[in-house]
Amino acid sequence: MRKAVIAGNWKMHATLAQAEALAKQIKASCETEAAEVVICPPFTALEAVGKLLQGSRIALGAQDLYWQPQGAFTGEISGLMLADAGCRYVIVGHSERRQYFGETNETVQRKVRAALSHGLTPIICIGETLAQRDANQTFEILAQQLDGAFASLPAAEARMCLLAYEPVWAIGTGRTAAPEQAQEAHAFIRRWLGKQFGEELREAVRIQYGGSVNAANAAGLLQQADVDGALVGGASLQAEAFSAIVKAAVEAKAAVR
Ligand code: PEP
Repeated sequence: MRKAVIAGNWKMHATLAQAEALAKQIKASCETEAAEVVICPPFTALEAVGKLLQGSRIALGAQDLYWQPQGAFTGEISGLMLADAGCRYVIVGHSERRQYFGETNETVQRKVRAALSHGLTPIICIGETLAQRDANQTFEILAQQLDGAFASLPAAEARMCLLAYEPVWAIGTGRTAAPEQAQEAHAFIRRWLGKQFGEELREAVRIQYGGSVNAANAAGLLQQADVDGALVGGASLQAEAFSAIVKAAVEAKAAVR
């Protein structure tokens, strides 16, 4: 049984004071043994939020990293620095990074390797645009993104990764994939993992769904057999909504046991 994992991507939101207040509320309302909970504040709040999370089960994650450990790369943050700041997870290849900051399947692969080499779990985001879905290219695009992210990665390292299926048309739009659409894509991703790395890994790697997940639609998505959690943007900025999603994950996965 794969343990559900719910991650909050705060994106470019929250001053230090706001981040501390939100982290305190999430710590008070989202603590559970039955699911993994991760919050990914902006870089400026990592240290403060990390301190607040000490002694809790809630893990700290970052939203991006650069693949070199250090050097003359103005403005970048490395996996070494993230691990040092207490991060255990890092989002890689988010569609906003692909769309606005030139992230490619090649850079995603470098970042995945860098994350793993510093003991961080990469949350690898993949997903098709609306135009690609309408042109029936969803599976082709997912396969290309998977081929890129996992290029020549040994199975032992691939096993350490977390995937997030995030249809671009559902991110920040209020438009969610229907549970059946999410399941169809997740099942495709799982088959790809099986073909590439074998049966054991196919069953072990967790695949989150992301795209306008909220307290109202979380249960339907998380009840799907191959949906192992959620990557949550907007709703992770409200502790109440985020804790309702965590609760929905715990209940959905308890029901299928
Ligand atoms: C995200 O940022 O990964 C995301 C899924 O955002 P939202 O939940 O706001 O659609």
